[in-house]
This record gives sequence, C-alpha cells and structure tokens, in this order.
Amino acid sequence: MPYKWWTRDPIGVEETQCKSLLHPFTAHHSECPNRLVINPYTGCQHRCLYCYGTYFFFPNYFDILQVKINAPVILENEIRKYKKSHDFFPPVYISPATDSYQPIERRYHITRQCIEILQAHRIPYYIMSKSDGMLRDLDLHAQYSDQCMGIWTITSLDENRRKLWEPFTPTIKRRLHALERFSAENIPTAFRVDPILPYIDDSPDQLEEVVAACAERGASHLTVSILKLRKEIWSRIEAFLQDQNEENLLKKYRELYFNPTYRRGSYYYPKSKYRQKILSFLQNLAKKYHLSFGTCLEGMPHFNTGPCDGVCLSPLKIRPLQQKFK
Ligand code: SF4
Repeated sequence: MPYKWWTRDPIGVEETQCKSLLHPFTAHHSECPNRLVINPYTGCQHRCLYCYGTYFFFPNYFDILQVKINAPVILENEIRKYKKSHDFFPPVYISPATDSYQPIERRYHITRQCIEILQAHRIPYYIMSKSDGMLRDLDLHAQYSDQCMGIWTITSLDENRRKLWEPFTPTIKRRLHALERFSAENIPTAFRVDPILPYIDDSPDQLEEVVAACAERGASHLTVSILKLRKEIWSRIEAFLQDQNEENLLKKYRELYFNPTYRRGSYYYPKSKYRQKILSFLQNLAKKYHLSFGTCLEGMPHFNTGPCDGVCLSPLKIRPLQQKFK
C-alpha cells in the first residue's frame, strides 16, 4: 500500500454509549423520499478513499471505530416513542454513513440485534453494504423478505481498482455472491454503481459488465451516482493520484470539477454534460437488463424509472402522502 489516508494500523476500537440512534434522513439538496436511518457504528474499517461519510467524526473516521454498544436498547426505546406520536413508520435505512456489516460486526452483532428489534416491531428496513457479511444473517432477513431489501455497492468488476480505492472491502466476487444468495431467497436486491470514478471506471464496457453481472444474479434495481468532491475528499484523492504519478488524470479531474457553477452546497459536481452522458447510458443499460433505475443526488430525477434508491417497501407504496415528518 504505497499511500495511506489513515494513520492507525490496525484501526482503533472504542465502545461508546449513544444518546440517540433513529434519525430522519435529510439530504437537503436531493429528491430522496424521507425515511429514518440508523448507524450502529461510526467510522468504517473499509476505508474507501472517496468515502462521503468522513465529515462525521472527522478526522478520525478511518482511525477509530466507535461501536455503539447500547444501540439496541436505544432503538427499542425510540421505536416505542415514535409509534406513540406517529401513526406511520417509514422504512429504516441501515446504514448510510458507515458500513453496518463491516468486519467488527462479526464480534459485536450490533446490526443483527437492531434488525431483530425492527422485525419484532414489523418495521420495514433496507441495508446498504459493500460486504458479504450480510450472509451471516441471511436466515434472519429471509424470514422477513416481504419487508426488507439488500443493496450492494458494486461500481466496477476490476479487482485492482478495488484494492487501490476500497482497500479493506471484500472482493467483488464475494459481494456478487451475497447479492445472488439474497435474490435466491426472494429478498429484493439492488445495486449501486456509486461513486462512478470519472476516467477510471466510466467506460461503456466497464459499466455494462457490472450491470450484467448484478442483473444476472437477480438484482431488480440499479442506482447510480457519479463522484462528487468535498474539500477533504479531494485532498485525499489528489494526494493519492499524485502518489500514483497520475498527472494527466489530475489535470482532467481539475477541469471536470472545479468550476463554481458546478458547486452544490459543499460539493463540487462534474460538468453537467458529462453527467448527462453517463446517466443516459446507464439508464439505457438498465432498460436492456430489465432493471428499474434511479439516480442519487444528481438533481436529474427525469432519468429515474423507479425510486432513487430502489426501495419499494410496502409502506412507501401504500401511504406515500405520509412520508413527510419533522
Ligand atoms: S464502505 Fe462506505 S462507509 Fe465504509 S469507508 Fe467505504 S464508502 Fe465509507
């Protein structure tokens, strides 16, 4: 590993007591449906170079992993409280800011305990992960297949790219296997090609390989998003590309991103023309492979042929007007 964007090896582990766990999901400049989120951990052992979650707990996100050991107790209390003041419980998203099935879950089982509580309350949930660790709980999810969903992030089939950009994640083969096993149990599955790295994994052949591999294994939905840059994300990527002597790529990234017109909040977006080309191509691929299609945080919902994140759990379908909550 020539260049590291973390300082501790191995990652430190801290057991913490959280005060709250269940939160409304608010993406201020997105078209996302409202939902609730939980993050059983803060920090992530997968240490992806481009990780958007690093604004949490910055700058320790990759160095200290916080395990919310009281999360199941807090969740149980918060569900009871929420139910008293709301007649509708939206699906719970596990976990947008860290990976809930990262290796530490094998030791602590916090995610599993939270899922058991959600199931006991008949609350729908969906999980996004880069790990095949979800297979450990396959039976648990399978008994609840009408109310849950598994989503894997698979942006490229290139193992060299994975090792460089997502160095501590399970292999792509293992993620595909997990997706296939969930589909075989009739658990709805989706995949995220997110973030697409411009000029690295955006060629038509590369994108089609990923879409075909996931569709063949039973996924029903594709969500896509192209890399966005925040200040600290760019400083990691820039240092990494410099270390790799990728001067040409650095130049192309600077040209593609750093124009104030492409800024939304604290993120720099790639040029719209570039995004439209990639999204349009992926939308056609989704059609070819009979997948519903959604874009994430692109501000271009006209491309969507399904929910942005693919989540069609029954309460969202049945009672869409009650999604709003404060
Ligand atoms: S798996 Fe997700 S949360 Fe974990 S480091 Fe990678 S991008 Fe961040």
